[in-house]
Amino acid sequence: MKSDCTLDKYKALLATKGFTLLKDIDYFDTFAPIARRTSIRLFIDLEIIHGLVIHQMDVKTAFLNRDIDEEVYIKQPEGFVIPGQECKVYEFGWKERMRVATNYALVLKILTMKKLDLIWSCDDILIDEISNESLILLLSKDVLQYILETPVYPREQELLKEIRIITANHPLSIMASPPDSGQLIALLLKLINPKKTIEIGVFTEYSLLLTALAIPQDGKITAIDMDRDTYEMGLPVIKKAGVEHKINFIQSPALSVLDELLEDHENRRSFDFAFVDADKDNYQKYHERLWQLLKVGGIVVYDNTLWNGTVAMPEGSTKEELKPNRLHIVEFNKFLAVDYHFQISQVRLGDGITICRRL
Ligand code: SAH
Ligand code: CA
Repeated sequence: MKSDCTLDKYKALLATKGFTLLKDIDYFDTFAPIARRTSIRLFIDLEIIHGLVIHQMDVKTAFLNRDIDEEVYIKQPEGFVIPGQECKVYEFGWKERMRVATNYALVLKILTMKKLDLIWSCDDILIDEISNESLILLLSKDVLQYILETPVYPREQELLKEIRIITANHPLSIMASPPDSGQLIALLLKLINPKKTIEIGVFTEYSLLLTALAIPQDGKITAIDMDRDTYEMGLPVIKKAGVEHKINFIQSPALSVLDELLEDHENRRSFDFAFVDADKDNYQKYHERLWQLLKVGGIVVYDNTLWNGTVAMPEGSTKEELKPNRLHIVEFNKFLAVDYHFQISQVRLGDGITICRRL
């Protein structure tokens, strides 16, 4: 990584067909589409020596002599490509104890050197200083997996799991709250036992269902989202959970709903809890309204306040699609830091959540 935090990318191409090269003409040119095992070893050595992380290796051929636990994806084989989903890859079922040579292996995440003997050839290797997940959580992917598997998944309520599985089919499934964040929010809700709550950004209802399950029987949630289709996806599970009576879903941009709520003076200083997880450019406007709607002691939780770790990165090394919201979140975090109407805590969980208590 360079000093301005941009990545140097070197292509792993080596001349395995060296016999075709001519001294003083193209002796040092590299044409082979694959790298040799020794060059892969070199990259992995560099990774270990410098404490880097291999994000991805595009493997052309892998001879498997034993089981591996990495996630492996394969290109859709020729003639079996699903129309309209050409760019998708399959997750490969290594669990079925495949002991074959394959030339469709597309992405094989190699984390340790001991797996080297499994790879015969590969080309693109992306090595970086530290993964985004590590940046956000300040812990490794393995520790995150450990947390999910130890205290989180075994305690996740069945119906929440059902929503998670339904959501996984949605192309934007990444937007759903992760279950470890959900666990903290559920704990907070139990602590404050809120009667009147707001949710801005419902999507497929992971956070909505966990809120509905955690608040008391006579608790109410004003749930706002512009998209009804995604709301419909999780609705059967909400019904199954028997919590539909707690939810007033409003299909609308959230800002106008908050303004309408404020017009009725009864609503001012009446809400106990709010969860904000929609358009990041409006977070500050939501915050101004929520300050008026929340009771003293009321809690508002903002999601995605670390925006994939980009808040701490220079603009130049931020992925194009993350840039606009990065700026909004950076501004919002600065604003919250000096807003003494609230006690705050920014938590490195999921994509970063900021918990604010109205003073
Ligand atoms: N809280 C959800 C995830 C929300 S994703 C969960 O934990 O699963 C963000 C949602 O915000 C999307 O469903 C999107 O439709 C909605 N959204 C985006 N802009 C909005 C706006 N201006 N007003 C209301 N909802 C909005
Ligand atoms: Ca979110």
